[in-house]
Amino acid sequence: MQVNAGKIVVLGTGGTIAGKAGTAGDNIGYVAGQVGVQDLLDAVPGLAQAAQGPLVVEQIAQIDSKNMEFCVWAALARRCSEHLNDDSVRAIVVTHGTDTLEETAWFLHSVLDARKPVVLACAMRPATAIAPDGPQNLLDALAVVNAPGAHGVLAVCAGAVHGARQVQKMHPYRVDAFSSGEGGPLGWIEEGCVRLAQNWSQTQAGWALIALEKIAIDAPWPRVEIVMNYAGASGAMVDALVRDGVQGLVVAATGNGTLHHALQAALERAQQAGLAVRVTTRCPLGQVLSLPGVHAALPLAPGLIPVKARVSLLLELLCA
Ligand code: ASP
Repeated sequence: MQVNAGKIVVLGTGGTIAGKAGTAGDNIGYVAGQVGVQDLLDAVPGLAQAAQGPLVVEQIAQIDSKNMEFCVWAALARRCSEHLNDDSVRAIVVTHGTDTLEETAWFLHSVLDARKPVVLACAMRPATAIAPDGPQNLLDALAVVNAPGAHGVLAVCAGAVHGARQVQKMHPYRVDAFSSGEGGPLGWIEEGCVRLAQNWSQTQAGWALIALEKIAIDAPWPRVEIVMNYAGASGAMVDALVRDGVQGLVVAATGNGTLHHALQAALERAQQAGLAVRVTTRCPLGQVLSLPGVHAALPLAPGLIPVKARVSLLLELLCA
């Protein structure tokens, strides 16, 4: 029965959810991005009922998300934006690999005015596995799409729905691979119903709409790299990247944004030379607490893990 007239658009990008292995028992030796998004949907029992309305499918890419490229992000953002502005579309589901899902979620969250739900669905087992998790994750994504008030960029995996800011892959093998850290997920999907633990709303959505315009005219993307603080760190990596023409640097600092003095000095030199530098922490939980005497020289990227701080800096530089 169709209760919602608006279309749900499913954009395929590849990933393990579309992966194929040689044998059903092989959960890791597969090739990601092999099954077309229409075939993925056709293999899910009860999908039409769960959708509660028409489903339209587009294959944006067919890649392993470890190989995510800016051109795929650009194509995905453009199509999402067009569909969000189309009154006949009520929601978007994106099938995506788990490896860089959190980066794509943060990217889309930043560039889209997502008044409708944009739900990333993934899997940790290939489509050929004895027990693939993709079909249930797709059904759960549709449950999220149809949940009252759902909006914004969201990610669904293993029965939980996460917000774009917090979602992070925490495990390389477990089916329940994602976490939202200390705050927990936004909610859970149980038998087709969403039990919300937190509000859907997320701050800052669409702040980089200008970047989307630049992406639409195919402006070149800036180069932003990530460096890390660790025992015995030096400034050599930073100096080499500066010589190589990098435009922005994100540093995964230790603890509360602390840096080896040699790395700190190199980052300050880089900043003085005109590079944009942002400090994050390599700690998986919490966020750097600003301490004027310690963090005055280099700006923090509050509350963002290094890979998401890099996405934000990329977009900041694109907007500039
Ligand atoms: N390497 C795969 C990908 O990110 C992993 C997965 O989807 O689980 O596409």
